[in-house]
Amino acid sequence: MDKNLLVNVLNSNQSLMQSISKSKYMREETMGVLRNIESEIPEDCRQNFYTNLRTLTIAYNAKLLETHKAAGMYSPKYNALLVDEHIASTGEITDDFAQTLSHEFRHMASTTRYGNHAVSGFQNVVKDDKGKVVYTEELKGLTEGFTEHLSMKASGKDNSESPSEYGEQIDASSKLSDIVGIDAMKRAYYNNREGMQSVESALQKIDGKKSHGELFDTIETTYAYGPMDELYDPNAMARANSQLDKLSSMKLEQEQQKASSIESENASR
Ligand SMILES: [Zn+2]
Repeated sequence: MDKNLLVNVLNSNQSLMQSISKSKYMREETMGVLRNIESEIPEDCRQNFYTNLRTLTIAYNAKLLETHKAAGMYSPKYNALLVDEHIASTGEITDDFAQTLSHEFRHMASTTRYGNHAVSGFQNVVKDDKGKVVYTEELKGLTEGFTEHLSMKASGKDNSESPSEYGEQIDASSKLSDIVGIDAMKRAYYNNREGMQSVESALQKIDGKKSHGELFDTIETTYAYGPMDELYDPNAMARANSQLDKLSSMKLEQEQQKASSIESENASR
């Protein structure tokens, strides 16, 4: 792997470098966060990360925190990072701000655009019969949960320390990671051209089922997009947990069987 690739990509985007240099805390945090994310992504899934970095823009907003209750936001459609100007220049709530950058840059690294349509993380494009891409909001809850889960892991924090509102989605994505393995999760999340394929095939090995749309739908309805979200179901997390726990114990049973069959094979020799 080319060790200077990240530096070369950044140098090719001069306006980005200028915006980063405008703020002390952006300058201090960004490089470390980007190095972290680069090394976390499976090597053959880094295309979105480099492609988006080449054209990423950063804009500072004077009232972002006040109006959106966020220190930073990423727009998948415009490949733009919006950062609260005051926090970026003073470093107030530095810990949260570092966490925000870590979270938002992961959205950038896991976004693909198809014309006007952008998909992030586990979201997938759906095409109509004419091959035209139709945007879906599918799996946004799991995407947010896993984004925060990765950011927490990268900063060595426990999931429960997250200041975010994605608590249940973090739990669900971390349980799912334990079941299918972190690599399968990363492949689906960072390489969103293949949808949930890597996660599905890992799950199929456990319970033999080809599709787990029902489980993903259940996780999705644990998250409310707003007070009027009709899909939100306050009981969904309990159902998601019982499905995940079932898969988890099936996996454990298989591992135990495998281990004991190896043992008896060795004993008979
Ligand atoms: Zn997010």
